[in-house]
Amino acid sequence: MLDDKLKSRLNYCTTLPSLPAVAIKIIELANNPDADIGEACQYISLDPVLSAKLLKTANAPLYKSRRVATNIRQAVSILGTHSVIVIALSFTLANSVMKKSPTSNLPAFDHDIFWRRSVASALASRALGEKLNLGFLDDLFLAGLVQEIGILAFLTMMPEEYDHIYSSTTDHDQLLQIERQTFGAGHDELGCVLLQKWHIPDYIALACIASHSQPEPKSLDPTLQACVAVSRYLADYFLDPQDPQKMSAMTEAARNWLDLDGTALIDVIQLMEAGLKPIEDLFDIKIHHSSEATAIMAEAKELLMIYSLSRAKELEEKSQRDGLTGAHNRIYFDETLRREFHLSAQYKLPLTIAIIDLDHFKQVNDTHGHLAGDSLLVTVVSTIYEQIRQDDTLSRYGGEEFALILPGTTLAASRNLISRLKDAIAAINYKVDGHYSIRITASIGVASNEQGVAHFNEPLDMIKAADSALYAAKHAGRNQIIEWQPQ
Ligand code: GH3
Ligand code: MG
Ligand code: MG
Repeated sequence: MLDDKLKSRLNYCTTLPSLPAVAIKIIELANNPDADIGEACQYISLDPVLSAKLLKTANAPLYKSRRVATNIRQAVSILGTHSVIVIALSFTLANSVMKKSPTSNLPAFDHDIFWRRSVASALASRALGEKLNLGFLDDLFLAGLVQEIGILAFLTMMPEEYDHIYSSTTDHDQLLQIERQTFGAGHDELGCVLLQKWHIPDYIALACIASHSQPEPKSLDPTLQACVAVSRYLADYFLDPQDPQKMSAMTEAARNWLDLDGTALIDVIQLMEAGLKPIEDLFDIKIHHSSEATAIMAEAKELLMIYSLSRAKELEEKSQRDGLTGAHNRIYFDETLRREFHLSAQYKLPLTIAIIDLDHFKQVNDTHGHLAGDSLLVTVVSTIYEQIRQDDTLSRYGGEEFALILPGTTLAASRNLISRLKDAIAAINYKVDGHYSIRITASIGVASNEQGVAHFNEPLDMIKAADSALYAAKHAGRNQIIEWQPQ
């Protein structure tokens, strides 16, 4: 938690903005579960700007209400008491703190970007809640809006010092790290303490911290936290969709925190787009110039679509590969063999498979250690890949056992390749620590369905045949190839 020095510095900082009376009253109401709505309306009505904004909000398409509110009471009946209080809080905090630059002469800090990013985060946080059908959209908006308020607190308390740190990096996570090293706390904690000092309800204050780190405080709704956390990355992308790094950071965050994929994110961006105009009006801000907004958003969605497609392909490819060697895995082998077997049977095409088992591999582990054994397996696989064609499938069948599927290849045609393979493996001279070298050989069992002569009824029979040939090769002294012979 925030150290005492920083805390007292925050407490006695005279330049920190003080909240207007109406804000203090609204906060009081927000903390009171039995808030008297009559009283709330009365206070809000005292502030004409705030009242106007609340009316505008209640009538904004965001709330999809068919009724039109002409006074605060009606706004309350459309939006609900809790929402009115939370929305009022968003407006007062925006106007009294977030919208104003802490001091005028900060060379590096661009308050305009900060403010746009805050509103975009609020919009994103709300849109995520909408996409996930959550019931507390206004709370999400407020938490998204104020999550970076600690940055303003730092700038107010120590303008020059912090401005320097702030400008030293464009990476948000790195900024937090530097803050923690320099001040013992990041802007997440400072923001939380500031909000608590103002008696902003805890779930909003804590979302500031929680959105910046994985472990979640117990008192916090994990979905609220996750939405706020993802909203920052979404906002960064929304403001600059051309930056591929922002896209990958956003998709990663959305996947990790909320289990949302690229297509879901496109929906969220669409929701943000729909909310953009009313929010820009309500907060007197231009997030995108309207002439560009449509084009920017169309491009953002297109880029995201391309990204999520290629990502899906990548994941699919990954799920088919063995993690250590990069050869295909057993599941892929089974599927491929089944497919090739049926094609071969149906069109009377030749098909050959080979099972390759490394000789005395246990000794390699025993002598050089398991890690050296692992590296040797990787080397064996790349050696095999150098010899085979693109249509051939190499899979890791078991620990030090590999299976090769050679579609369209007769037994005779396979001989050359398989014998080259055996020699290439025997030629591996694997150096450990630059001192010892490990030599390895392989035994290989081959089985073939000849053109028009089907020896096997199903793929499993073919595997059994290759396996028995392999067994024979081991028995015959290893480092050799044996072909299965029909009896
Ligand atoms: P042979 O096949 O010639 O009969 O002897 P072998 O020693 O290779 O036979 P066995 O099948 O009994 O042992 C295989 C060894 O391969 C046992 C296991 O420790 C090792 N092995 C299996 N998977 C891995 C792996 O992923 N990494 C390493 N380093 N070793 C593995
Ligand atoms: Mg072996
Ligand atoms: Mg084995």
